[in-house]
Amino acid sequence: MFDYLIVGAGFAGSVLAERLANGSGKKVLICDRRPHIAGNAFDFYNDEGILIHKYGPHIFHTNSKEVFDYLSDFTEWRAYQHRVLAHVDGMLVPMPINLDTINKLYGLNLTSFEVEDFFAKLAEKPEHIRTSEDVVVSKVGRELYEKFFKNYTRKQWGLDPSELDASVTARVPTRTNRDDRYFTDSYQAMPKHGYTRMFERMLDSPNIKIMLNCDYREIINQFSFKEMIYTGPIDAFFDYRYGKLPYRSLEFKHETHDAEQFQPAPVVNYPNEQPFTRITEFKYLTGQEHKKTSVVYEYPQAEGDPYYPIPRKENADIYAKYKILADARPDVHFVGRLATYKYYNMDQIVAQALMTYGKIVGMKRKEAMAKTATDGKVFVPARAAANGASASASSVR
Ligand code: FAD
Ligand code: UDP
Repeated sequence: MFDYLIVGAGFAGSVLAERLANGSGKKVLICDRRPHIAGNAFDFYNDEGILIHKYGPHIFHTNSKEVFDYLSDFTEWRAYQHRVLAHVDGMLVPMPINLDTINKLYGLNLTSFEVEDFFAKLAEKPEHIRTSEDVVVSKVGRELYEKFFKNYTRKQWGLDPSELDASVTARVPTRTNRDDRYFTDSYQAMPKHGYTRMFERMLDSPNIKIMLNCDYREIINQFSFKEMIYTGPIDAFFDYRYGKLPYRSLEFKHETHDAEQFQPAPVVNYPNEQPFTRITEFKYLTGQEHKKTSVVYEYPQAEGDPYYPIPRKENADIYAKYKILADARPDVHFVGRLATYKYYNMDQIVAQALMTYGKIVGMKRKEAMAKTATDGKVFVPARAAANGASASASSVR
């Protein structure tokens, strides 16, 4: 007899399993239809011995001290600031667009103040900023929008930016200074021994049983449990009663090269000519030293494993109908990127899972976040090392 059946061993499922087991002494069965834990964050050493991310690059960044402290109980960190170059007009230039991007692209020598005027002259002023096109053209104008955003977005989502919510391209800022970091969050670090190792530590509890290669539908009638946590696609849970919710998929092409370095940055984005969106070279992310190097190409697809909810009104309307069905099931908690149909980063999913835990055990919001940051000290020594990493990560802000 279990207290909880948890469907999916990604961030949402694993954080809840850890909290319920170690914070409340509940008996938990967690299953995943994949042959591994860690969901999309799964990493492993490939045949050459290089640590790679099976489902594309996962870079951890957050402004939440609570989320960072919580995860620090299960991993040490390696301070890491992510940088991206974009391949545009035959050149490699910093992305997000910054002062150096403009100077290099146009052969100019503008200052920060001058580039502000430069953008102001190019910017269009749409009446409302509703779509992903509006966000970009209102800041940098149409030419830069077309060079950096239009085709990348069409490839990535199979939709024109004018058909997507503003929130999608708003993830990428525009800068007038020379800051070339992809993120500016206060905590930016990678789990020192990888994500999978961190998940193994989270799930290492006598109260947690794990079943892999296992769709929950195969076992739901074989075990008894009091409540369920569901982190798979919400439309599948309800047998597509209101039709399929579109999730964007990707095909990953992994390669290993017999050279120490493949490209001059951790990620190179290819907005225009190529069928893939970006190439990631893993050793930059992990800090591993190796005489060979592994990279992954991302090819967006309509069909395949669901990775991205697609933020646009039509889809939000379908999700709202499923949400009503979900709310009528107090025995099932819907958590995570697929089950709540939200384009969330890892840290947002951790926060969502901690909040759900708080709700389940009847804590108030602040209490839930604060308590989880001090409660689950499964591997206490990690905390000291993590503090070192966070200090060095934030000192470069
Ligand atoms: P998932 O990790 O998808 O876990 C859900 C699990 O449920 C899956 O393992 C699935 O197999 C399982 N499941 C589904 N249905 C069933 C079923 N019927 N039975 C059993 N198991 C089932 N976030 C960042 O913060 N930084 C990044 O750099 C970043 N990069 C990303 C790059 C890519 C290419 C992608 C796709 C995502 C990226 N993300 C990144 C987002 C990050 O992956 C998610 O926020 C996070 O993994 C979501 O966790 P989750 O637990 O909600 O979902
Ligand atoms: N984007 C773009 N060009 C780029 C980088 C991003 O058009 O060079 C747009 C694209 O629509 C993408 C969105 O901005 O899906 C968000 O980018 P992010 O890098 O956050 O995407 P993710 O890492 O989640 O795939």
